[in-house]
Amino acid sequence: MTTTRTTCPYCGVGCGVLATPQPDGSVTIAGDPDHPANFGRLCSKGSALGETLSLDGRLLHPEINGARATWEDALDLVATTFQNTIAEHGPNSVAIYGSGQLLTEDYYVANKLMKGFIGSANIDTNSRLCMASSVAGHKRAFGSDTVPGNYEDLELADLIVLVGSNLGWCHPVLYQRIVAAKASRPDMRVVLIDPRRTVTADIADLHLPVQSDGDSALFVGLLAHLARNGVTAPDFVANHTSGAEAALLVAEDWPIARVATATGLSEHAITLFYDWFARTEKTVTVYSQGVNQSASGTDKVNAIINCHLLTGRIGRPGMGPFSVTGQPNAMGGREVGGLANMLAAHMDFTPEAIERVGRFWGSDNVAQSPGLKAVDLFAAMARGEIKAVWIMATNPVDSMPEADAVRAALAACPFVVVSDMSARTDTGVVAHVRLPAAGWGEKDGTVTNSERRISRQRPFLAAPGEARPDWWIVSQVAQRMGFGAAFAYTNPAEIFAEHTALSSFENDGARDFDLTGLLGADYESLAPTQWPIRNKPSARMFGTGAFYTPDGKARFVPVLPPPPFAPAPGSFILNTGRVRDHWHTMTRTGKAARLSAHYAEPFVEIHPQDAEALNIRRATLVRLNNNHGTAIVRALVTDRQRRGHVFVPMHWTDQFASHGRVDALVTAKVDPVSAQPALKMALVHAEPVAVR
Ligand code: SF4
Repeated sequence: MTTTRTTCPYCGVGCGVLATPQPDGSVTIAGDPDHPANFGRLCSKGSALGETLSLDGRLLHPEINGARATWEDALDLVATTFQNTIAEHGPNSVAIYGSGQLLTEDYYVANKLMKGFIGSANIDTNSRLCMASSVAGHKRAFGSDTVPGNYEDLELADLIVLVGSNLGWCHPVLYQRIVAAKASRPDMRVVLIDPRRTVTADIADLHLPVQSDGDSALFVGLLAHLARNGVTAPDFVANHTSGAEAALLVAEDWPIARVATATGLSEHAITLFYDWFARTEKTVTVYSQGVNQSASGTDKVNAIINCHLLTGRIGRPGMGPFSVTGQPNAMGGREVGGLANMLAAHMDFTPEAIERVGRFWGSDNVAQSPGLKAVDLFAAMARGEIKAVWIMATNPVDSMPEADAVRAALAACPFVVVSDMSARTDTGVVAHVRLPAAGWGEKDGTVTNSERRISRQRPFLAAPGEARPDWWIVSQVAQRMGFGAAFAYTNPAEIFAEHTALSSFENDGARDFDLTGLLGADYESLAPTQWPIRNKPSARMFGTGAFYTPDGKARFVPVLPPPPFAPAPGSFILNTGRVRDHWHTMTRTGKAARLSAHYAEPFVEIHPQDAEALNIRRATLVRLNNNHGTAIVRALVTDRQRRGHVFVPMHWTDQFASHGRVDALVTAKVDPVSAQPALKMALVHAEPVAVR
């Protein structure tokens, strides 16, 4: 029996996995003790990976209009339809919508096809729903999309502030690392800032159940508190930052009393948090979707970063702002330029970068400006402006906000291609062409986790039926579109080598994403490695005080907190998120009975007093509705929830529970800087469903 060293396909922790196929066809799964993300640990999802490998529900053959087709016919149809659409309506009439589930090699080839050869930047990704606000906040502050710290900092910190992050369920192995560190260091403190009292509150010394979107006010108030009390790093601020005065001028208007009103927190609790932050040099602020998935998400990110800049707590062990990504390869997508507003290898659409990338790719048809971001992309489709779309490894009919409108837009789109390993997604149902993709355990490539660590995913199973890797499918279509030589890849190692070469191409250190040290590296034996890599991997960024802005200084961003969000009487603020044992729309975790045993059906968490007022009892079916849609879910009455707020998990689809699609209710309102949707801030009505 041969053991393969690979990486978990779920969250952005990026745990190393040892997979051993057994003679009976099963696969034994264990945590990789040598992987620096998890040191042998796995969570419930990771340890159940071997139970999700059945062929049940797999798409095994190409299909055209629901009938089995040959690869030749399917690829020809995709290529000719894209070509004809571009010829008739221009390059911006076509689009690709990708996924943080794609491997870096898949992502690289898709981005190269769309931006480099089709000449449109209409390629966006479900990572837009996950971490776009962190990307935008990093770029505003640092001049680059750079995560400063690493996981070890969580163990070295004396104070960990978790903002909008249910780490216990959504990044469980990171949570386990904090639990272990806290057990050995009783003086270590954890603060949780979250409207819900989630399982993560179990390790919190202080839980601040902040009003939805009150985070900006909390951190703007903290900035003022730090300045008022002289908790600053004057030399660092003077020599390595700009804009502190303007940010502090805005913050001065936010005394603790005003913060209390905006956040719904007591002045006592706010003061305690501020004092702990002020007194603790080694502080890491970890933030996730509660920060990012907001109409003011980018401002929230910068409000947090401002506090670390003012105190100089960045780039050193045990301190810094730290965005943790939701998906296994959201970071890899950022590296290749898989967002519509990024070109490639962390380069933007500047004239110099367009010329440089065009020269590298050997193309004179590189997209000249950003393309449509996720919400705008599907809105353009609804208006008839996108006439052919290719959706890879994601399920927007369930996961996009205003999901019913997205389903209608796809149903009206003249040509929809879906490449996926699953035959049973709600998006696949509306596709004209379905292409069977290889899945985890079958694919070969790399992913990058939340701490910029590149790890290999290696195959240990043969792809079933006619399933093929995504990079191969895209390359075949590109060749049929006439871009042959640029897409003549025969294996993912060639693609990774090109990706590495592009990162270092005319890069004198002015760009953060740099894999120079991996040029010529052996792909097969590649060990988990953090970028940037010029001479040696960099575990922490900005330790020298040099940033990637034109003047080399980090930028403070003045943040004006949004007005408190007060729902109209009878409305609830709908929060959405994950449960411990399911992943996205359950195409993989839905196969493991023990994972479904944790929560067997969709539910709504509602405060007991709100439930009583509506005559909703425990396990009552509840209808949630608003202008965008309806969902019917089981009541889970709990005081973990704030009054006036409800929470519904994001996982259930029409394939697993009728009327359980919560994203049908979610608003498509987006952050103006990052275009990330406010997935945690819809308004809904709730009522018990009468049972006859
Ligand atoms: Fe996989 Fe994330 Fe669990 Fe690690 S913590 S095993 S990466 S789901």
